Amino acid sequence: MILFREAKALHDYLNAQRKTGRSCGFVPTMGALHEGHLSLAKTCSRQNDICVVSIFINPTQFNDRKDFEKYPVTIEQDIRMLVNAGCDLLFLPPEEEIYPRGEEYTSRHFDLGYLEQLLEGKYRPGHFQGVCMVVSRLLDIVVPNRLYLGQKDYQQCLVIRRLIHLKKMDDKTELIICPTLREPDGLAMSSRNRRLNASEREHAASIYACLNDIKDKWCTAAPALLLQNAGSRLLKEGFRVDYVAVADAHDLRPVEECRDGQAVVALIAASVGEVRLIDNLQVAGN
Ligand code: AMP
Repeated sequence: MILFREAKALHDYLNAQRKTGRSCGFVPTMGALHEGHLSLAKTCSRQNDICVVSIFINPTQFNDRKDFEKYPVTIEQDIRMLVNAGCDLLFLPPEEEIYPRGEEYTSRHFDLGYLEQLLEGKYRPGHFQGVCMVVSRLLDIVVPNRLYLGQKDYQQCLVIRRLIHLKKMDDKTELIICPTLREPDGLAMSSRNRRLNASEREHAASIYACLNDIKDKWCTAAPALLLQNAGSRLLKEGFRVDYVAVADAHDLRPVEECRDGQAVVALIAASVGEVRLIDNLQVAGN
């Protein structure tokens, strides 16, 4: 695995590789890697001649400074894991390589429309602008044939699909959405799980249980009742609940009734102790 720290060096290297006809897949991450990240890297490595993974804790996407400061860093372990997963190039830039001073990368605005007003967008103001800032810059540096994202961050996948469109890269970069990897009790793997204490960790699996309950009862009870039951259960278990929602799987518009053939996703964001967790599950349709 080759390690790059400079944007231009990576860009030039990949350009030269592309000229020889080699395909490039890309997995952006913030490090503190787990099997979920590695599943993306393994798929990327299988489907492309070159698999690039980036590790960059992007300050512009944290609406909560404390969350940024406490974000786990496990770089040596990450490097070992990436070598085993078949990653060819690791991009590990310092902040000034992503946001060079004097250039306008951090003041750009991306037209995400209603997608950034609801769910994560509503509870984390500015978050998706920050995500777009970094992913836009990374896409310009790497120019991948395929971009790999996890379904775990469902709304982020739709935002990045829109970003690719805004950047007129639809013909250049294919978005591949990979399934969520989970712990044996159903908790979605996340770098933030390391911050849970033993009792919080035990409760954390309830989020997935609630999503499954909504899925099992979908169309047999009113959606509002299903959401209320899930919310009450989480509150009883000590969570602070930001949202429990069901939405159209294609555009995240709220769903108020069960309709034949509609693809529907259930989404939850809730905090236990100091750790905010998100998860989602498709409950109906393809
Ligand atoms: P992060 O480091 O949290 O920014 O995540 C980097 C990528 O890994 C994103 O595309 C995430 O959606 C994806 N990811 C995070 N957790 C999981 C998981 N449990 N299963 C699959 N992909 C994941």
